[in-house]
Amino acid sequence: MDLRFDGKTIIVTGGGSGIGAATAKELATSGATVIVADLDPANAEDITKTITAKDGKAHAFTVDVAKADDVEAMVAFAVKKTGALHGIVNNAGIGGPSAATGSYDLDAWRKVIDINLSGVFYGMRFAIPEIEKAGGGAVVNVASILGSVGFAGSSPYVSAKHGVLGATKNAALEHAAAGVRVNAVGPGFIHTPMVSNALDAATLELLEGEHALNRLGQPEEVAALIVFLLSDRASFITGSYHLVDGGYTAH
Ligand code: NAP
Repeated sequence: MDLRFDGKTIIVTGGGSGIGAATAKELATSGATVIVADLDPANAEDITKTITAKDGKAHAFTVDVAKADDVEAMVAFAVKKTGALHGIVNNAGIGGPSAATGSYDLDAWRKVIDINLSGVFYGMRFAIPEIEKAGGGAVVNVASILGSVGFAGSSPYVSAKHGVLGATKNAALEHAAAGVRVNAVGPGFIHTPMVSNALDAATLELLEGEHALNRLGQPEEVAALIVFLLSDRASFITGSYHLVDGGYTAH
């Protein structure tokens, strides 16, 4: 059993940036054919080209994970292009505006829930039957430390990430017999466009101190855990939540 994915096809949503892009590259280096799926066609294409330029295998696909039809078409594309689907990383997500629950904008609430929670459900809903057809495989859902603790101003994000943990456990119970493992990861604050576009330098410095390792993580440090959980090395791991948070939740 190893960390190789030769002959296997894995979809990575939000694969055009940050944690998704790092995961797509690491999977391709490990032999997988990667479907780089993103809302932004240029980013998906850019990461796909980076992979294929190094003799890796990848195809770009434009998807809005908040739309069930888009997600169904993404899974169909993966199967048509490569013959079978062996895994999916439901990673696409947004932060949403910062406001207290008592004043949170209703449309903004729905948008975060649609992408960060329903998007993960759609990914599992359409990918798992194909993974079962392929004889089994793995799903990794990207939650957050905010899947287990709160963060003032981020009610829909925190609610969606807590929901992702529940959906992960349920799918794991339901599909274990067919050989599908389902896990969630909980990154601490990671240096990606989501964080650097939303937070100023002073806030970032404060957040660094909230991690026992006194720094933010790098996307590659999250990708390493995701790739391990997708691999046969993780053959007895399912239905669980795995932190990669530099000690954020240790206190
Ligand atoms: P990122 O760099 O902003 O990457 C997210 C990617 O998802 C972007 O390419 C984005 O496209 C895409 N996306 C957004 N909405 C989408 C949609 N509706 N359908 C398809 N793709 C969509 O963010 P990241 O930090 O890597 O985040 C990846 C995941 O990690 C998210 O689920 C996030 O909640 C989670 N996470 C991040 C951190 C962190 O500190 N960075 C911590 C814990 C968990 P656009 O650029 O076009 O919007």
